[in-house]
Amino acid sequence: MTDCIFCKIVAGEIPAAAVYDDDQVLAFRDIQPEAPVHIIIVPKRHIATLNDLTPADAELIGRMHLAARQVALDLGVADSGYRTLINCNRDAGQYVFHVHMHLLAGRNLGWPPG
Ligand code: 5GP
Ligand code: ZN
Repeated sequence: MTDCIFCKIVAGEIPAAAVYDDDQVLAFRDIQPEAPVHIIIVPKRHIATLNDLTPADAELIGRMHLAARQVALDLGVADSGYRTLINCNRDAGQYVFHVHMHLLAGRNLGWPPG
């Protein structure tokens, strides 16, 4: 997708502070962090929203979670705690239409969100 910010980050056309990188998944620091640790985890392949996933993407979505686990360990928040979430479409406040998981940590995150 030529117009997608996260595809451009994956392609290295827009700089980002990467914290995890494998053949299918990239994770980088959010440019406008909402918590002391705020990481965005994306599939390298463009998928617009959670609604666009298919059963063929089951491994990919699992790998995004495994990447989150690794990032939490690497950044030292695995024990203190963290939240992963995926916003889908308008009511959830999805702003970038390349499916992405937020990893938030480093403060008490509160519940319920929103
Ligand atoms: P959404 O609201 O779509 O779930 O979240 C999009 C997230 O991407 C926001 O938290 C926003 O700060 C982050 N973001 C948007 N553009 C960029 C960018 O160019 N670089 C980085 N690192 N994060 C971005
Ligand atoms: Zn994209």
